[in-house]
Amino acid sequence: MQLRYQFRVYPTPGQQIELARAFGCARVVFNDGLRLRQEAREQGLPYVSDAELSKQVITQAKATSERAWLGEVSAVVLQQALADLNTAYRNFFASVTGKRKGRKVAPPRFRSRKDNRQAIRFTRNSRFKVLHNGRLRLPKIGDLDVRWSRSLPSDPSSVAIIRDAAGRYYASFVVQTAEDETLPPVESEVGIDLGLTHFAVLSDGTKVAAPKFLRRAAGKLKRLQQALSRKQKGSANRKKAVVKVARAHARVADTRRDWQHKLSTAIVRENQAIYVENLCVAGLGRTRLAKSVHDAGWASFTGMLEYKAARYGRTFGRVDRFFPSTRMCSDCGRVNEKMALNVRAWACPCGSHHDRDVNAARNVRAAGQADLNDRGARVRPPAMVAPRSEAVTHPDAACSTRSVEGISVL
Ligand SMILES: [Zn+2]
Repeated sequence: MQLRYQFRVYPTPGQQIELARAFGCARVVFNDGLRLRQEAREQGLPYVSDAELSKQVITQAKATSERAWLGEVSAVVLQQALADLNTAYRNFFASVTGKRKGRKVAPPRFRSRKDNRQAIRFTRNSRFKVLHNGRLRLPKIGDLDVRWSRSLPSDPSSVAIIRDAAGRYYASFVVQTAEDETLPPVESEVGIDLGLTHFAVLSDGTKVAAPKFLRRAAGKLKRLQQALSRKQKGSANRKKAVVKVARAHARVADTRRDWQHKLSTAIVRENQAIYVENLCVAGLGRTRLAKSVHDAGWASFTGMLEYKAARYGRTFGRVDRFFPSTRMCSDCGRVNEKMALNVRAWACPCGSHHDRDVNAARNVRAAGQADLNDRGARVRPPAMVAPRSEAVTHPDAACSTRSVEGISVL
């Protein structure tokens, strides 16, 4: 499978100018391509093919006086910018026709020099190279100083150079991992309830709180943002404050990612199968809970669990089906009365006592195992099918509201 490895790079002032030029050229080619397709559409002409687009906005454009400067950057950078545009179109079409599941994909938008994130990509064709002295050689840019925090497991197939809002540069390598990284099998299987009182609750009873340092960082970010809002528009102090906020944002994101990596690796190592409830995060993002949902970063966390499970030969499942996982007894399957949000523990008439979140996680595990059975042997699990009155067909409504109750973990 393919993995990304990202490292900080420190371009010299001269290299920064060359990179800015490459970002600019990639952006122009992307925008020219987008405009050409939009115009064709407005005039009722057929969709401009990938090859035709490349010919017009790269090869022929270079021959004109207005676009002659495209020749100053690596041709691969320009081709990859068009490849991004083509992918954006394909995702959009797939979304419109329903071939692509999940959140609706918007049509491609024009790129701006004011975008927070600027990026260019080099493929093997461009002959980028990691030198013996550890520098990264990029055509028409130079040899970049890379801060290697670990070694690449094999030759990278591409590298993207990214400049983020805080003005930091990164090299993001795509690497094909070794064939077999399967971990020795273990017995345990886990269901995970992603809640807001805890970041995650596991079916074995483990409760994972969002770490204090993340909450502290979020507090600092809030203060910086307040400071920014007091600065006068267009002032030099405002510009400085904008950079400070961007840096703080980047730091919170980095810290959260590191923490999620450690947690997801531990869970994948310790369990043969991992099941999470499908959160329909896209649906939740539109509500007033958006902030807390995004802060909690569940989507990126479950994404990590998924690719690590695939990489290490574990089973991963998202439980899609709506069922009342909070008030269903994980021992007898009985669906009990609705309970208030502040009820953290309850007793079932069957005699079982439940912690609210652990019970939910155990139901997620059972539903995941049943789903898997269902797909494999076509055996219908009797206990875990929701009663008809509980079943919801509208996709947004089918998101469990239980997962969004309560307060932000940050
Ligand atoms: Zn019971």
